[in-house]
Amino acid sequence: MPEIKDHITGFLARSGTKLVGFCDVPKDLRILEIEESFPRVIVFGFSLSKSVLETIKDRPTLIYKHHYKTVNWLLDQTACHLVRFIEEQGKRAIAIPASQLVDREHHEGHASHRHLAQEAGLGHIGRHGLLVHPEYGAQVRYCSILTDLEFAPDEKVEADCGTCRNCIEACPARAITEDGVDIFRCYEKLEEFSRVRGIGQHICGVCVKACDGRH
Ligand code: SF4
Ligand code: SF4
Repeated sequence: MPEIKDHITGFLARSGTKLVGFCDVPKDLRILEIEESFPRVIVFGFSLSKSVLETIKDRPTLIYKHHYKTVNWLLDQTACHLVRFIEEQGKRAIAIPASQLVDREHHEGHASHRHLAQEAGLGHIGRHGLLVHPEYGAQVRYCSILTDLEFAPDEKVEADCGTCRNCIEACPARAITEDGVDIFRCYEKLEEFSRVRGIGQHICGVCVKACDGRH
């Protein structure tokens, strides 16, 4: 199929999604619930509003919660349209939801978008454990589509956090170190935030705000 990556990129751009990457499914990727195997992945992202992120100081705000849910909804809607587009080309595709827990104990979804995004050349995994895009930092939400479309994988980004320590200093749980994130400490804080009136879910946003791609 000629230039399928251009078709997909154009399709996503018309949906307002300009961040996209392509890769093979990594051999060690854990995919929960979906038995069928697919050889390739399209990962796309939607950047978060900087104005909304500005409302965050040391905890999530109600407006951030709403925005977070809206962006996830936009990603899922876009994925739905893209899956139909791919199926109309006679190929198979299945969308991994932007934010749906499958394994509550390990806090995992069907597959890790950030690891797929890294594989697809969209950035590197930062000290906070999220994907750091070269331009947008961690201020992007991602969605992935497994498919049997044929395309060449994109190049991975060779980068690291360098001398930046922004998220280490910002984290209210002191869960982030130079070597990575203590997910149990982070989770405890997310539990605390989820009990705040009106929040009701595991969100934070503090290290996302701190990681703005300007390091
Ligand atoms: S805030 Fe800085 S140290 Fe933290 S993940 Fe982003 S780039 Fe890395
Ligand atoms: S989500 Fe919040 S608590 Fe968890 S590592 Fe980031 S800043 Fe810390």
